[in-house]
Amino acid sequence: MLEVPEAVAAVLHEASPLVPSSIVLQEALGLVLAEDIHADADSPPFDKSLVDGFAVRLTDGAATLSVIEVVSAGQIPTQVLDQPAAIQIMTGAPLPIGADAVVQIEFTSSLTDAAGQTLVSLPNKVASWKPGTNILRQGVSTRRGDLVVASGSELRPQELGALAEWGRALVLARRRPRVAVLATGDELVPIEQTPGPGKIRNSNETMLCAQIRRAGADPIPLGIARDERAHLRQRIDAGLQADVLVLSGGVSMGDKDFVPSELSAAGVRQVFHKVNVKPGKPVWFGIRDTSPTSRTLVFGLPGNPVSSMVCFELFVRPALRRLMGVSPAEFTSVKARLTQPHTTKGDRPTYQPAGLEWREDGPIVTAVPWVGSSDLRATVAANSMALFPIGDQTYAAGSIIEVIAW
Ligand code: AMP
Ligand code: MG
Repeated sequence: MLEVPEAVAAVLHEASPLVPSSIVLQEALGLVLAEDIHADADSPPFDKSLVDGFAVRLTDGAATLSVIEVVSAGQIPTQVLDQPAAIQIMTGAPLPIGADAVVQIEFTSSLTDAAGQTLVSLPNKVASWKPGTNILRQGVSTRRGDLVVASGSELRPQELGALAEWGRALVLARRRPRVAVLATGDELVPIEQTPGPGKIRNSNETMLCAQIRRAGADPIPLGIARDERAHLRQRIDAGLQADVLVLSGGVSMGDKDFVPSELSAAGVRQVFHKVNVKPGKPVWFGIRDTSPTSRTLVFGLPGNPVSSMVCFELFVRPALRRLMGVSPAEFTSVKARLTQPHTTKGDRPTYQPAGLEWREDGPIVTAVPWVGSSDLRATVAANSMALFPIGDQTYAAGSIIEVIAW
């Protein structure tokens, strides 16, 4: 039986980044860019005013000047300053030729002379100003040809904004993996229904689809497969069209746990079955090559909701990150100080729902009361899972514990 790190490595060994494709910029949040993007223009593209005020020549000094034009953002000045005069200018408007500073409107006073000409009086302090005051020069932040966003970058809002500035409405990026979700079990009913005797709602589908979405991938819910070979096989075949197929239930030792054998029958090669972990020991992983360059990764998660949730975070999420080209693909953990003693039951490394808090002297973690792998309510009270590596052991308060936020 594999240990968790070995199982994660086995999953990542089988997963390679998806082939980049052209993606609409607005759809690209969280994706990984697969091309270097260079600026095709300077930023800013022209000398512009940083303030609302008057464009002047500092050599004219603290004078009272005729206002010969008003330029708003988006307009081009038609006049040049080749004699003592001022041009009123708004923030973001192109600087008139001849001007070497802009005086904020609040530092000036305006009047109209007898002929109806607007005049502006500049304050004395402009005498000491340096050329360029309140002007943003063309290309100061970026020069045409500069690298703006490098291939391999994760597209956050600021990268999307920068790409929008240079007009990249389409970018080459690794697309979101399509992840089919198939819940199995004769006891399951859709969540809109009131379960009859012996039945429960299919909560895993909603939870797993949300985990998939949170990981940046696109979930495809496939509904409920009955514990019946032909029906299960037909749903598996549908799921194998996706990049990843995540099943829940049917991977244990029960009479009707047909998932591993029906996956094999569908041509999925088993990579591992069972990992030394609690919850989630029966977890199954395999692959099916659909062409020389594409394959479907298949995860059979145990049906108990917390097992499904934990196994998703441990094994499926790193796989999705690898497909998307995110690096590192592995989950990251923090070391935290245990606030209260905790005793583990059973003989496996346990991922225990826990509360992680950040304190001035470092992170602290507290186990959330938990009755076991069906207890989703404990996960609602938790924000992380704490790894207790050895079973049947009491961990003293103050022990340093590895914690994975979720
Ligand atoms: P299994 O892994 O199929 O043996 O299921 C283990 C436990 O998880 C059983 O108590 C199931 O009823 C429960 N279970 C299985 N699938 C789901 C599901 N989709 N939603 C909620 N509970 C489930
Ligand atoms: Mg079942």
